[in-house]
Amino acid sequence: MSEACDEMRLLIQADLDGELRPAEAARVAAHLAGCPDCVRTQAELAGLSDRMAREASRYPASEAFRTALTARLAAAAPSTAPTVRRRQPLLLGASFGAGAALAASVLFLLMPIGGSSWPDEIVASHIRALQPGHLMDVVSTDQHTVKPWFDGRLPFAPPVKDLAAIGFPLAGGRLDYLAGRPAAAMIYHHGQHVIDLYAFDGTDLPAGLAPAGSRDGYNFERWTDGGMSFWAVSDLNAQELADFVRAWRKL
Ligand SMILES: [Zn+2]
Repeated sequence: MSEACDEMRLLIQADLDGELRPAEAARVAAHLAGCPDCVRTQAELAGLSDRMAREASRYPASEAFRTALTARLAAAAPSTAPTVRRRQPLLLGASFGAGAALAASVLFLLMPIGGSSWPDEIVASHIRALQPGHLMDVVSTDQHTVKPWFDGRLPFAPPVKDLAAIGFPLAGGRLDYLAGRPAAAMIYHHGQHVIDLYAFDGTDLPAGLAPAGSRDGYNFERWTDGGMSFWAVSDLNAQELADFVRAWRKL
């Protein structure tokens, strides 16, 4: 392990927590491509994060607890609490007990991220998923395979559609965890390009989010339908991504 790897360890954890800007996430990906030590570190940390996410999401906070905690946070830090945008990176070392980790993860679940950071989070997740071995949990071009795979793993049922006939074949699916919410990621291809289509339960997104935009060379579009929120993100140009979204929504 070099000094670069020591720094990388912190960045990897922040990356898993969705804390990195797309450019930083890309730097982590580049280092991982050439460093087996850090790939191992990432796998260990990802296992821990997954466990925390699962265990934390099994105990949703009551509305009363949320309200009380939000009030206490606001009292403790009036300048930042009402608009807390990002949770603190969970820098987990061996000395960081599971209880504290769980408490910290419950805390971040209670902090909605603000409007402007949603696109950052979505694009960073997309870049993270493009790393080797991270893109798909279920590999199938068959919507009748991917859909039931999601249905068994999420508390909502995202629609899975195949657009192969118009040049956007379904490639598979992945579970993601973004902004404290479980998400279904449907993966589509268009030539050499990858499109991630994220579906979340609920439409309670912060006001003022743009319906489309770009971050660090990646374009995104978002919309709501059937009580769910959708985000499509890709390095496709904005016009082609718009074509994909229009076709997907019409199907
Ligand atoms: Zn390394």
